[in-house]
Amino acid sequence: MYRVLIRFYEELNFFLKDQEKHRDLPVAFPGRRSMKDLIESLGVPHVEVDLILVNGNPVAFDYIVQDGDRISVYPEFEGLDITGVTPLKDRPLRHTAFVADVHLHTLARKLRMLGFDTDYEKHRDDDILAAISQQEKRVLLTRDRQLLMRKNVSRGLYIRSTDPDTQVREVLHRLDLYRHLTPFRRCVVCNALIEPLETDNPDYLRLLKSVPREILTRYKDFRYCPVCRRVYWKGRHVEKMEAFIASLKPEDQ
Ligand SMILES: [Zn+2]
Repeated sequence: MYRVLIRFYEELNFFLKDQEKHRDLPVAFPGRRSMKDLIESLGVPHVEVDLILVNGNPVAFDYIVQDGDRISVYPEFEGLDITGVTPLKDRPLRHTAFVADVHLHTLARKLRMLGFDTDYEKHRDDDILAAISQQEKRVLLTRDRQLLMRKNVSRGLYIRSTDPDTQVREVLHRLDLYRHLTPFRRCVVCNALIEPLETDNPDYLRLLKSVPREILTRYKDFRYCPVCRRVYWKGRHVEKMEAFIASLKPEDQ
């Protein structure tokens, strides 16, 4: 038997059973086991982990756990640069793009509204979601822990809340994206970048056919999605969204 002590820090305790939270947890198992397997056997998806120390030294997920190891497992550090220490991820993501699980439709639309490249389709199984995340380097957003435990998923975020507005805050907060909002530039329906609809656009009249008459008399500036052809204008829903965006700013900024 291998016997180790493992402790999870900060919000990683969210994934543990009550009696396992915030303490040195004795774990015993027979035979060879990688660090990734050990951590996930306790319910914590590896994508949530940013740093693992064994007897004080950083190790990677493929480290083979040794008898007697004392293991400390940390989540993403906020506001603390650990790039020199952590062997788990090479570099913070420059371009943040997402793929959202099928259950997160409203979150996907809200992220698009804020300008984030968010891939979403109604019918997708876990294999496809994991493959898209891996191949296109998209952060996989899901409330399915098992999905985040897959080996080919290295970018992912477990969404804790079931309320879409709170989910948006979670994503922005945990990936520190407050400074990267570019609202109203992306089609909420299909994720494409929207463009101004100019009067010399050959499709100008055809595109405006879908817009109610009272809107056409009240508004002059329109934008449209060149992919799904949805037309956008600065109506009352935009004011509502602007209020929501204003409420997103963290208190210290
Ligand atoms: Zn579109």
